[in-house]
Amino acid sequence: MDRSLQQVEMDKIVSLCKRRGFIFQSSEIYGGLASTYDYGPLGIELKRNIRDSWWKRFIQDRDDMVGLESAILMHPQVWVASGHADTFTDPLVECKKCNQRYRADHVDSKDCPDCDGQLTDPRSFNLMFKTFIGPVEDSASQAYLRPETAQGIFVNFQNVLVATRKRLPFGIGQIGKSFRNEITTGNFTFRTREFEQMEIEYFVKPGTDQEWHRRWMDDFMTWFTDLGVRPDRLRLRAHADEELSHYSRATSDIEYSFAWGWGELMGIANRTDFDLKAHSSHSGNRLEYFDDETHEHLVPYVVEPALGVDRALLVFLFDSYDEETVEGDTRVVLHLHPSLAPVKVAVLPLSRNERLAPKAREVYDMVRASFVAQYDDAQSIGRRYRRQDEIGTPLAVTVDFKTVEEDNAVTIRDRDTMQQARVPIPDLLPELAARLGR
Ligand code: ATP
Repeated sequence: MDRSLQQVEMDKIVSLCKRRGFIFQSSEIYGGLASTYDYGPLGIELKRNIRDSWWKRFIQDRDDMVGLESAILMHPQVWVASGHADTFTDPLVECKKCNQRYRADHVDSKDCPDCDGQLTDPRSFNLMFKTFIGPVEDSASQAYLRPETAQGIFVNFQNVLVATRKRLPFGIGQIGKSFRNEITTGNFTFRTREFEQMEIEYFVKPGTDQEWHRRWMDDFMTWFTDLGVRPDRLRLRAHADEELSHYSRATSDIEYSFAWGWGELMGIANRTDFDLKAHSSHSGNRLEYFDDETHEHLVPYVVEPALGVDRALLVFLFDSYDEETVEGDTRVVLHLHPSLAPVKVAVLPLSRNERLAPKAREVYDMVRASFVAQYDDAQSIGRRYRRQDEIGTPLAVTVDFKTVEEDNAVTIRDRDTMQQARVPIPDLLPELAARLGR
C-alpha cells in the first residue's frame, strides 16, 4: 500500500467530511453552533463500526468484562462525591481588552494571543453543564449533564457485582455521551462540548493495579494498530505529577501525531480506590468486594481506559487519508480497515444500460443481504471507483456485458491495490467475505 508519509491537513478532512456526508456543522442553516457537529449518513456508519469494534473486543470477547448503559442525568451528590463539583475546573484567563477567554494552560504568555491586550490572572472555571430537573429552577432541582460516563459505572458497582457474581479482576464498560463546557474548543471534532465516550472501569486487587495499568495500555495500542493505525503515529505519554487528576495515581495518554502536533487520543488512568471509597462515604452504602480466599472485604482499585468515540473517528480518518497520483490524476482514498469502512462493497454496472441493470440489481440484492453495500450507476466507471475510494469502500463489484452474455462472472476491484479479479457469481459471497476478513 503506497501511503504517503505526509501528515494530512485538517482542511482536507473537514472538506471531505462535508462533501461526502461524514460530518456536518450543527445547525448550519442558522449559522452553526460553535464546536458542535452532526454525523451524516457515512459518518454514523463509521461511528457505529468503531463502537461495535470496541464493544466486541473489550466486552463481548472477554469473560472478565460486562457492559452497562447508565443515565446522563445523575443524583447531584454523585458529583460532590466524585470531586467534580469542586475540582473539575480549568484555569480561565480573560483578555482585559477584547474579553476573549482562554485556558491558561493553553496559552504561553501573559499577553492575549488575538490582540495586544493583557490577560487576567487565572480563575477556576467549572466545566460541568448545569440544568434543572422539573419545573422549578432553584438550587434543590439543579442537576448536571455528566462530564464523564465513569461515575455511572461506580455507582452501579454493587448492582453489577450482585447481578453477575463476577470475581476480581473484572471490568464494566459503557459507551455514551458526555458534556463539558470547555473554555476552548477546536480542531474540528477533536475537542467539543458534547462528545461520546467509551469507558472501562477495570476493578482489580490492590497491588496488581500497576500491572493492569500496563496491560490496558498494551491492549489499546494493539486495538488501534489492528484497526490499521500506523504505529509510528502513536505514542504513550505518562502524565507528570502536576498534571494528574485529583483521583489518579498514574495516567498515561495514548497520543496521535496530528498535522498540528501530538494530541491526546485517550487516557488510561489508575484511579486507585478513590471513587468507590468516596461513593461509600457519601452514600452510606459500602461499595466493597468480598474476597473468598482471604475471607476479607476489600475496596478494589480501578484502572480506567477512557476514549472518545469522536476523537477515535478523527484519528481513523486522518490516518487512513491519502492522495495518490494515478495516471496523472489525483486519487483521494481512505485506506480504512474493512471492519470500519462505512460501505463494504459497491456494486457497479459498467454503464447505465438496460441490458446490465437487471443482473447488476440481482447481484446488489445478493450482496447487500450480507454486507453494507451501495449501488451506483451514475457517470463513468472510473469516476465511480474514485467516489468509492474517497469514502473508503474496500471492494467494488462490476457487472459488465461479459457477465450477462458469456460467463456469469463479475470483476472485483480492490481499493488499495486497484487490482481486479474475475469471480463467478456463485463464488462471489465467500470471496467477498474472505477479502473483508469475515
Ligand atoms: P483534557 O485535559 O484534554 O481536557 P482529559 O485528559 O481531561 O482532557 P479525559 O477525562 O481523560 O480527558 O477524557 C477521556 C477521553 O475522552 C479523552 O482522551 C478524549 O478521547 C475524550 N474527550 C475528553 N474531552 C473531550 C472533548 N471535549 N471532546 C472530545 N473528546 C473528548
